Amino acid sequence: MDVLKVNDLVKHYGPVKALNGIGFSVPRGTVFGILGPNGSGKTTLLGIIMDVLKTTRGAYNFFGEGTGADTRRKIGTLLETPNFYHYLTAVQNLKIAASVKQRGEEDIDRVLEMVNLHQRKNSAFSTYSLGMKQRLAIASALLGNPEVLVLDEPTNGLDPVGIAEIRELIKKLHKEGKTIIMASHMLDEVEKVCTHVAILKKGNIMASGHVDEIFQHSDMIEIDASDRKALAAVMNQYPGVEQIREEESGLVVYFPPGTVTLAPVNAYCFKNGITLSKLLIKKKSLESKFIELTN
Ligand code: ATP
Repeated sequence: MDVLKVNDLVKHYGPVKALNGIGFSVPRGTVFGILGPNGSGKTTLLGIIMDVLKTTRGAYNFFGEGTGADTRRKIGTLLETPNFYHYLTAVQNLKIAASVKQRGEEDIDRVLEMVNLHQRKNSAFSTYSLGMKQRLAIASALLGNPEVLVLDEPTNGLDPVGIAEIRELIKKLHKEGKTIIMASHMLDEVEKVCTHVAILKKGNIMASGHVDEIFQHSDMIEIDASDRKALAAVMNQYPGVEQIREEESGLVVYFPPGTVTLAPVNAYCFKNGITLSKLLIKKKSLESKFIELTN
């Protein structure tokens, strides 16, 4: 089940082509990173899906439902650091945010606990570190317990401790079953926290998929058979296999670069009593492409 589906999205600002017809899907329960250098179109993309910008062409929908108000209530967003009142406390600020968003106040303690600001909930916002301010912003996005969170560069401007805290928070939210869509220009951040990634360059998607696949040094094949368990057990014994991962469409098997050919795999499976219903080479490592584009 996809939380978000984006189809052939185009955005021009006058002569500037910010998005050139991009498409991707965000599966439920993932931490989905939109990775790209400055100016690649990340903020434009998030602005469109959050309805603060109009598309030039193309469509998207959430939960297969659409983009109406009821659907949007299931989405919490942090597009830029919100304007909290400096002289008010965290609780007072969240009360205002809750009323603006028409979301209940009963949630405030829960979200402050979640972002680990509970002990400082009665301190004035002005006494918070940058990291705490950012966590309060995420707490605000969590009001109403949305199923999906959209975050634009959530660690921007933070020191290493602040970055680590946000990273832990994202992991915690992911464990709770939330889907998180976040933009970032840092490969490292995306590798550490995201399960899936779409790489954006000059308004085009260079690659998208599971991080293991996108950042792997390995070659991958995809295979399938009627009994996947038996197939996985047999392939585990095949020389050179580094890892096997199950996807909806089949098993993805990882090999060191340049060591896999298909015919011997087919023969080996057949010899072990398995008839393959699928056998193909998946794309190879794209890490080099990303390094090229960030340079
Ligand atoms: P950053 O990390 O710097 O925010 P980004 O990947 O989020 O970059 P966008 O901000 O979406 O990229 O910008 C994509 C392109 O669109 C850039 O070339 C940018 O200059 C241009 N752009 C963005 N907003 C506008 C605007 N309001 N008017 C004209 N051009 C714009």
